Amino acid sequence: MEHSQSIIFVQFFCLIGTSCAIAWAIYAGVFRIAPKASWRFTLANICTVCGILLYTQRSESVNYLYWFAADMAVLMGFALVRWGCQHLFKQSISYVFDLVLLSSCALLMLLVPPSLAYAVYLVIIMSITAAILVSLTGVDNVKSSIQHMPIFYAVLINVPFFVMGMLFIVRAMALFYSPDQLSNLSAANTLNAPLVMWSYIILLLLTNLVLYGNALTRLVYKVARLVNKDHLTGLWNRHALLDKLDEVHALWQRNGSAYSLLVLDVDHFKQVNDTYGHMAGDAILKHTAKLMQQSLRKVDFICRYGGEEFLIILPSTNSTEAFVVAQKIQSQINSTSVKWKQKEIAVTLSIGCATCNTHTNIEQLLQLADEAMYLAKNTGRNAIRTKALEPSE
Ligand code: GH3
Ligand code: MG
Ligand code: MG
Repeated sequence: MEHSQSIIFVQFFCLIGTSCAIAWAIYAGVFRIAPKASWRFTLANICTVCGILLYTQRSESVNYLYWFAADMAVLMGFALVRWGCQHLFKQSISYVFDLVLLSSCALLMLLVPPSLAYAVYLVIIMSITAAILVSLTGVDNVKSSIQHMPIFYAVLINVPFFVMGMLFIVRAMALFYSPDQLSNLSAANTLNAPLVMWSYIILLLLTNLVLYGNALTRLVYKVARLVNKDHLTGLWNRHALLDKLDEVHALWQRNGSAYSLLVLDVDHFKQVNDTYGHMAGDAILKHTAKLMQQSLRKVDFICRYGGEEFLIILPSTNSTEAFVVAQKIQSQINSTSVKWKQKEIAVTLSIGCATCNTHTNIEQLLQLADEAMYLAKNTGRNAIRTKALEPSE
């Protein structure tokens, strides 16, 4: 390889690829950010750089390392990007499909001697395999991204994968119809095709950028979840409550399906702490949270409202139905106890119910449910009370 532009290209490509590999390794090893995905992205960059370096050694003669191994290294890089993304988005990893695809590609390549004489055939096989891998990566990413953003943006941020997939297909088709364009359409023999060379660099940069973007989105999503979750019980916290209440209230105003609130407070909890210790109190909170979760539907929302106080939003639930849910929770709690250091601790709850109606706003409803819970406390605890807005209020 003598062409000066080719040398600059290879140096530039290796510089970007190696820098990205180092950056991902720091992400994985030092900051422990999505380590499984980040290590795969590190390896992907290394594979691609190695593949391109091997390309530079190609000559007219048959050589398995510079042709076959080089192509397989680049394709392995694409597969690693796909597996990394699947780890990032907690998807199932497509090892079987991808390894079958890579093996089929390898077998087809090994049917001919790896040399310039068969370059058109080899580049077409490599391009089709690469197109499948990168396009499927794009599809995987969009599938996950639409859970957090509109489909337009999900597709937009993954455009580089689709563009890359399309370029590989276009190259395969162009070579199929005009094999004499080999030197312009691929870096198969000389790395002297400027268009191909610079598109490699731009796509390497863009792909890494998209991967950083995806890793960042995942991180932000994780942090946002932590902000809204209670550490001890794993339930939603008060921070998440107001957003959810606004959403359910707006839904009720739009389609008229009434919703109810339950406020549940553990009885004599201070006594438990004082008798058995704070750890026993924590165990009771976790036990109560778990039992309540088991008694609820998927659409119901449960949060830790205060120390030993919980709040449940029951969408599309009238006051009679809310009372039945409260009874179900009460009987579940009453029929179990928490084992703590060979002692059984019984738990009871005081539950207040309130259901929205045309005159109540969110604050009034919260207050009504709270007052109903205090009513349950005042009437002996381990009880359920409902409170509705007085006509004069
Ligand atoms: P009542 O039946 O009237 O509700 O009495 P109570 O003892 O349950 O209520 P009180 O408000 O007097 O006491 C609540 C106690 O809950 C006081 C506080 O120390 C304890 N607490 C609050 N948060 C936690 C927690 O995260 N873990 C533990 N173990 N205790 C907590
Ligand atoms: Mg209490
Ligand atoms: Mg309380």
